Amino acid sequence: MHHLYTNLEMGSDSQEPSHLLIVDDSASTRLLMKDILTRLGKYTVEEAGNGIEAMKMLDAGKYDLVISDIRMPGMDGISLLEKIRSRYGSLPVIMVTGFGSEIGPRTLELGADDCIYLPFKVEEFTFRVARVLRFHQLLQVRELLIEQNRELWGRAITDQLTGLYNRHYFDDVFVAEFERARRYQIHLGCIIFDIDHFKKVNDVYGHLVGDRVLKEMGNLVSDTIRRVDIAARYGGEEFVLVLPETDPEGTHLVASRLREMVEEYSFAQGEIDAGKDAPAVTISLGASHYPDDRYSTPTQMLKAADDKLYEAKNKGRNRLEITW
Ligand code: GH3
Ligand code: MG
Ligand code: MG
Repeated sequence: MHHLYTNLEMGSDSQEPSHLLIVDDSASTRLLMKDILTRLGKYTVEEAGNGIEAMKMLDAGKYDLVISDIRMPGMDGISLLEKIRSRYGSLPVIMVTGFGSEIGPRTLELGADDCIYLPFKVEEFTFRVARVLRFHQLLQVRELLIEQNRELWGRAITDQLTGLYNRHYFDDVFVAEFERARRYQIHLGCIIFDIDHFKKVNDVYGHLVGDRVLKEMGNLVSDTIRRVDIAARYGGEEFVLVLPETDPEGTHLVASRLREMVEEYSFAQGEIDAGKDAPAVTISLGASHYPDDRYSTPTQMLKAADDKLYEAKNKGRNRLEITW
C-alpha cells in the first residue's frame, strides 16, 4: 500500500504502470483501445472477449481498472459489473457503449465509475481512464490515512506496558469530566493508587517480574471498573482512575474492592521459579470526589486524592484514605 504515497508525492510520471483489463466481444474495438492505452506507456493492458472470461482473469490476477463493453454474448457487461461489485468491491469499472445508448446512464446507477460512448475522441477516452484511476487511488490513500490515523491515535493515548490510557490522555479526560461534573452538578470520583514497596519487587525478582506485575495490575483494574470509568497509568507504579457519576460511597466501594482484589491476587505466577514465593503485592489508595467545596479545579481534586494516598502510605500502606 505504501507505494500509494510515493505515487502521489512524486506525481504521475513515477507511477508503477496500472494494470487494465479490456472486455469486449469485438476484437477490433479491443485492439483500438489497447493500442491507444498502451502507447501512453503508463498502462499494461490485457483483453477478455466476454464477462465469463473476464471474471476468470480477475480471479487469477490483480487489475486496477476494467473497461467493459455492455452487449456481449455469454455474460454481458451489466452482469459483469454486478459480479465485480459483489466480489471486488470498489474495483473501478468503465463501461463502453454505442452513442445514444439508453443503457449507458443506467450503468452509472449500477455502480460503474464512468461510461464512454462510441465512437469516442481519443483524448477524452484517455482522460477519462486516467481520471477514474486517479480518483480510485485517492480513495485508497484516504482509507490508508484513516487506518493509520486510528492506529496512531490509539498509540498516542495508550500506555504500552499495561494497555491502560497514559497520563497525557488522562489529564485531558479528567479536565473534561471535571468540567462536566461541575456544570451539571453530578458526582465524580477520583482514585490514585501506588504499589507498596515496589522497589523491593524489582530488587528481589528482577525488572521483568516487576513489569509483569504492572501489566497484570492493568488487567485487574480494567476488569474491576465500569466501561465509562477511565483508568490510566500515571507514573511508574502509580495508577489513577476517574469514575464519572459516582458518589463518595461508590468511589469508596470501588477503591476498597480494588485494594482487596490486589491483596488476594497472586501476581506474575508464570514468571516465578518453582519453590519461590510469588511477590506479595499490595497497594495504597487515595480518593477524592466531587462536588466538594474544598476544590474547584481538576488539579485541586487530583491533589486531594494524592494527599490521601500519601496519608495511606504514612499510616502503614495496604489501605485506603478518602476525603469524606
Ligand atoms: P512505596 O510503598 O513508598 O510506594 O515504595 P516503593 O518502593 O513502591 O516506591 P518508590 O517510589 O521508592 O519506588 C518505585 C519503584 O518502581 C522504583 C522503580 O524501580 C519501580 N518502577 C517504576 N516504573 C517501573 C517499570 O516500568 N517497571 C518496573 N519493573 N519497575 C518500575
Ligand atoms: Mg510505590
Ligand atoms: Mg511511586
